[in-house]
This record gives sequence, structure tokens and C-alpha cells, in this order.
Amino acid sequence: MDFEFTEEQKIVVASLRSFATEELLPKYAHWDRTGEFPAEIWQKMGAMGLLGLRVPEAYGGQALDCVTAGLAIEEVARGDFNCCYGILNSSFAGDLLGKYAAPEIQAAWLPAMASGDKVVCICLTEPHCGSDAASIRARALRRGDHYVLNGEKSAITLLMAGDAGIVFAKTAPEAGAKGVSAFLVPLDLPGITRLPYADMGAKGIVRGSLFLEDVEIPAGNLIGPENGAFSRVMQTFEYTRGLIGLMCIGAAQVTLEETITYTKDRTAFGQPISKNQGVSFPIAEWFTRLTMARWHCYRTLWLRDQGLPHNSEAAMCKGFIPEICMGTIQDCMVLHGHYGYTQDFPVEQRLRDVAGQLIADGTPQIQKLIIARGLFGRDFV
Ligand SMILES: Cc1cc2nc3c(=O)[nH]c(=O)nc-3n(C[C@H](O)[C@H](O)[C@H](O)COP(=O)(O)OP(=O)(O)OC[C@H]3O[C@@H](n4cnc5c(N)ncnc54)[C@H](O)[C@@H]3O)c2cc1C
Repeated sequence: MDFEFTEEQKIVVASLRSFATEELLPKYAHWDRTGEFPAEIWQKMGAMGLLGLRVPEAYGGQALDCVTAGLAIEEVARGDFNCCYGILNSSFAGDLLGKYAAPEIQAAWLPAMASGDKVVCICLTEPHCGSDAASIRARALRRGDHYVLNGEKSAITLLMAGDAGIVFAKTAPEAGAKGVSAFLVPLDLPGITRLPYADMGAKGIVRGSLFLEDVEIPAGNLIGPENGAFSRVMQTFEYTRGLIGLMCIGAAQVTLEETITYTKDRTAFGQPISKNQGVSFPIAEWFTRLTMARWHCYRTLWLRDQGLPHNSEAAMCKGFIPEICMGTIQDCMVLHGHYGYTQDFPVEQRLRDVAGQLIADGTPQIQKLIIARGLFGRDFV
């Protein structure tokens, strides 16, 4: 066992720590108050290579290992939780397009996504189903050298700023999960409309609903084999779930550190409030949980790097760590007294922003189902 990071990984962490503190954190609240997509930061993240972490080098990416991508997302979360969605989405799209798309699609979209010029969204969820993703109803019908797409996709991160979507649709509806295909769909095609959401947090990721009405795309925009998308997308979730754990930990850890400073400074009854065990013990407890959770995420991503199974481990990252981080941030809010409830400190925004990750990419219930299936066998759960 080797718990040491490589020199390259240490450099990534150090340089992103200052980027997060000096450039992201000062504008974190701005995107929340305005609800704008942080386009200028996307360009910067692209220039720094953060949007190409999982894009092949031939297409302008870094092709870095999963552990390094995890370290990167954890550091970015210390500055702006919502900028992590840039890493998350481009890692997801980079993995799927990099492995399974036609070379022309890769050349057209991967370099532009890695540089921050184009935004690619992941369009799986529909109004009637999210957890039960195999029940999607969007249809793709082959007509000669084209597919025609119809359907509605909901909850899509970055949709309102998106240039293309990886859209999942049924090509063989009778076959359930084995009838799902994925397509690269430019979002400026005729027949496409989008509607923005009013979310409680994560406002800068401009989520929305996508409507597809007789949208024609070339057959070459199919990603991977026809009817073969479902297992591929599920394998990609195993990767992003490790990243999500670390992005929540980054936000919780920085909040904990800010709270230590605050409670050493704030006095009550003639002494710093940190002198009360009722104040310092919750911080010690959450720090312990975050430390354990962090190593679990690193190990999950390491397993992926080694090509070893990590289905249950990834589900543990997604199913439990956002809850641990919500608990951390909520206690930190209380330890700030009434100031924690104001917008003078970032703690209330982090609580709203991190809450989205209790649901996105699969709820805690669905992650427990995955873990239980691994323990009992599919037929007994
Ligand atoms: C911030 C955010 C970003 C998102 N980004 C995207 C995106 O980019 N692309 C995309 O496609 N989707 C995205 N989503 C959607 C997300 O993946 C779904 O919301 C999620 O999978 C849950 O699906 P649902 O909302 O339809 O809830 P449902 O599936 O209707 O579930 C409702 C409740 O029932 C529970 N439940 C369902 N089935 C079971 C069961 N068998 N056992 C126990 N409990 C069960 C669930 O856990 C949940 O609590 C995003 C969501 C959020 C909040």
C-alpha cells in the first residue's frame, strides 16, 4: 500500500488551491445572485486543462488518471462548488465520446469541450423517470443515413449554456435497458427547445428541460453500438460518483476551516466560543468523517485506474458522502450563529449547492440498492 501522492499530483493540488482561493471564491456568490453561467471561468478552466482531464491527448486533453481528476475537483470545490460541474460533465462526456464516438465526432467536439469553447450536457433523465433510467421514452428512429429523435429530457445540468447534448433514447423500446442508444445532438438544430429551471442552489449550472421534436441527426452521431448505451453510461457513473464524493468533501472541508477561524475569533461569556466542547467537538467529529470519506474516494478512483471492480465503492461515495458533507455544513452554519443564515458568509450557499448532490447522479436509496445487490446478489434484493 502506498498512501503518497505523486509529485505531479502534489503540483496539481498546490496550483488549484491558489486558483480556488484567489479566483473562484471571490466570485462564488456572484453567480448565485445573478443566476448567470460563469462563462469567463469556463474559458479559464479550459485554458488550465481542467475541462480535458479525461479527454485523450490527441484531442487536446490531459488524459490524466482518475485519482488526479479527483484531487482536482476537490480543490476547485473549495473555491466554487458549481465550477466542479465543468470537470464532472467534461469527464463524463470525455470518457463516453473518447471511447465510443466516431473519429469525426471526437475531432469536432472533444478539443472544443476541453478548451472551454463548447459545453456538452448529459441528457438521460425524463419527466417520468430518473432513478429508473431504463424506462426512458425518448425515441430515435433510423431513417436512411439519419436518426429522428423525439422526446423530453429533464434536470439537465448546463443545458441553458450547452452547445451539444449526449442524448439517450430508445432504439428498441421492447428491449428495456438493452434498447437504449446514445447520440451526440448539437443543440442548435431545428426541433429543439429548452426551458430554464429556478433551482434552490447551484444556480450557475443553469439546469433546464430539453424538448426534441423530429430532430434529425446524421447516423454517424450515434455513440457506441446501437442499443448498447445503457451499460456504458452506468460504467461511466461509477467514475463520476467518486468525483462527486470529493467535490462535496472539498466544499465541506473549506467550510470547516472557515468555521474554525470564526469560532476562535468570536467570543461569548468572556472567551472564544471554540473553548466550548459543544463547539469544538462537532468540528472534530465532522473532520474525522470527512477524512475517512476522502480516503474512500481516493481508493475508489484508484481501483478504477487499476481497472479493478469498484461498483459498490462508487455507490458508497455517492450514497453517503453528500449526506456527510451536508451535515458538516449545516453544523458549521449553526456555529456561525445568525450570521451563518445570512449571505455575508458562503456557508448558506454551500448548503444549498451541495444539496443538489443528494439527488443528482442517483439518490442515496438507489446507491444502497447497488451496494445491497453486490452483497446479496441481484435475485435477492
Ligand atoms: C443538481 C442536479 C443535477 C442533475 N443533472 C442531471 C443531468 O445533467 N442529466 C440528467 O440526465 N439528469 C440530471 N439530474 C437528474 C437526476 O439524475 C435525477 O433527479 C435522479 O436520478 C433521481 O430521479 P428523479 O428525480 O426522477 O426521482 P425518482 O426516480 O422519481 O425518485 C423519487 C424518490 O423515490 C426514491 N426511489 C425511487 N426508486 C426507489 C427504489 N427502488 N427504492 C427506494 N427508493 C426509490 C428516490 O430515491 C427518490 O427519493 C440532476 C439532478 C439534480 C438535482
